[in-house]
Amino acid sequence: MARHQRARLPLAVALASTLVGLGAAAPAAHADAPKKPAKTAKPAKPAAKKKGAKVDCAKVKCIALTFDDGPGKYAGKLLDTLKKYDVKATFFLEGQYVKSRPAFAKRMAVEGHELGNHSYTHPNFREISDQEIVDELKSTHDAVVKATGKAPTMIRPPYGEFDSRTVSVAAEMGLPVVLWNGGSRDWATKNETAIYKEVLRNAKRDGVILMHDWVPATVTVMPKLLKELKRQGYHMVGVSSLLRNGKKLQPGEIYPQVKQEELESPPEDMQSPEDGT
Ligand SMILES: [Zn+2]
Repeated sequence: MARHQRARLPLAVALASTLVGLGAAAPAAHADAPKKPAKTAKPAKPAAKKKGAKVDCAKVKCIALTFDDGPGKYAGKLLDTLKKYDVKATFFLEGQYVKSRPAFAKRMAVEGHELGNHSYTHPNFREISDQEIVDELKSTHDAVVKATGKAPTMIRPPYGEFDSRTVSVAAEMGLPVVLWNGGSRDWATKNETAIYKEVLRNAKRDGVILMHDWVPATVTVMPKLLKELKRQGYHMVGVSSLLRNGKKLQPGEIYPQVKQEELESPPEDMQSPEDGT
């Protein structure tokens, strides 16, 4: 019986491909024969993603990797890795480094990554005046536009610290406030194995992971980390791609919805120690 079926298979394949080629549905009786998925058919496995194709996070397992405080010194190497693995990320840029490393910012935009506004000098937004919040965000917005030709599409306040004043300014600028729900502790450990384990421990579907491109170990562990995340079925996308059914982040919206006190972020004396500018 099995032998008989096997013997018939080539004919079934030929028939199925002919019918698919003619635009007709393949016969249900030969559903096990390899065929191109018809429009209504659910592929058993997500089809291999074409390079640069848009990912639908309602259908596949997604995660958003985010990199703060850049463009850092090692952003070029990180961008090479992201490109090699056809992965999109979100960069929350600091205006002062956009000014000093405009070419990296430009590359991020050109290579399809999402850009966020992470202030100009990285102050704690709870501790500065309303006007200073506006100035930090507007000057960074301008620096990003100047370097990349694109405006940042979201705001991440330094240390995840903010109050209603930041939300108001974000709403006025038409931007959401984007936080995270999974840390890497890369700023604390600066160790490849520790970062790898911490990211995998915090990885979950539609998660937003916080990392820093000024930490050398974050950049060097990235190929290994991306390979493992892919093996676990994750698609790495920009934050805005996590939203389902064509939904968009709204001005003043806080996403993902996490409590500020639960955010684990670097202490204020640990920010961007790499920079000599
Ligand atoms: Zn930061």
